[in-house]
Amino acid sequence: MNRERYFDHAATTPVDERVLAEMLPFFDEAFGNANSIHSFGRRAADAVEIARQRVSELIGADDPSQVVFTSGATEANNWVVSAFENGAISPFEHDAAWEPAKYKGFDFLPNDGTSLLLPSQGYDLISVMGVNNEIGSIWRTADFRPYAQRLHSDLTQQAGKLSIDLADLDYASFSAHKLYGPKGVGALYISDEPPSPLMRGGEQEHGFRPGTLNVPGIVGFGAAAAIAGDEMEENFAHAQSLRAIVLEELNRTSDWRINGGENVSPYILSVSFQGIEGETLVVEADAAGYAISAGAACSSRSTEPSHVLTALGVEEDWRRGTVRISFGKANTLESANDLAKTLLRIVEKLRTM
Ligand code: PMP
Repeated sequence: MNRERYFDHAATTPVDERVLAEMLPFFDEAFGNANSIHSFGRRAADAVEIARQRVSELIGADDPSQVVFTSGATEANNWVVSAFENGAISPFEHDAAWEPAKYKGFDFLPNDGTSLLLPSQGYDLISVMGVNNEIGSIWRTADFRPYAQRLHSDLTQQAGKLSIDLADLDYASFSAHKLYGPKGVGALYISDEPPSPLMRGGEQEHGFRPGTLNVPGIVGFGAAAAIAGDEMEENFAHAQSLRAIVLEELNRTSDWRINGGENVSPYILSVSFQGIEGETLVVEADAAGYAISAGAACSSRSTEPSHVLTALGVEEDWRRGTVRISFGKANTLESANDLAKTLLRIVEKLRTM
């Protein structure tokens, strides 16, 4: 398994070796419970506070206390959405916000197929993500501020990749494993008033989020946030180059298109090839050594069409032929070029079958 050929960074990223090195002592000699008052506990608690500081710097929070650690962005999204009855959500959200919002009976924000439209009424909560995980579109969440008592944004695919502006937000969700940190740890940014707790049972995180802290994970999140902040510009430029190379190569075929509009993150490229099955393309690409995906990893085993592509109004024969290519640090210009050539070869083969 060659990391250069892994083009599914929107699903997850490998843990950076510098992150892993910072995490390891917290499985072993510094194993204390961060809530214990003895020195083992204090060592863990100090490390958690350093991580909180590092995450708050990456996202631009005014104060580290505005960062509450969770088990990931799914929990952070569920926490916010569950706390409100009168809400509206973008139809382009990740399942981790969309499903709880559907469950709560939220309204969907109107849209014209490419952009979100402003609602005709106000809501207690509006949730609109920053960067979309399937198509890379960047949404203007702040536009919804006048319509929302509380405004939430899932910034999972934005943190560490594009700059973040928290000024208009009350809540924002984050996940470590999208920025070369470990899985199973994330955070909710809370501007001032925390949503009512999702769980009860302990005084950790000021009682807002009970449960023994995942110290190695949190330390890893902090380390990953610091590195992502330091290397954001070079990684961004690298993603732009990789994307340009793939697009240049794909231009050699016909009947394909890019989804997501003009304002997209360079890290995520959603393309549709008319008349083929995206799933088959993913499987064939895998056989050729390349990892891409047909959509969000969380729903990639589902046979339902993606609700995001459906909301975008992508026609059935294009929607079926959609794949997501998502770029990362280990990809090289050569591997991006070879990926595109490989995809074209497979597409031509599938089209003649
Ligand atoms: N929101 C978005 C936009 C995502 O891409 C993901 C990860 N697929 C999640 C939420 C869920 O994050 P986690 O895996 O940390 O629960």
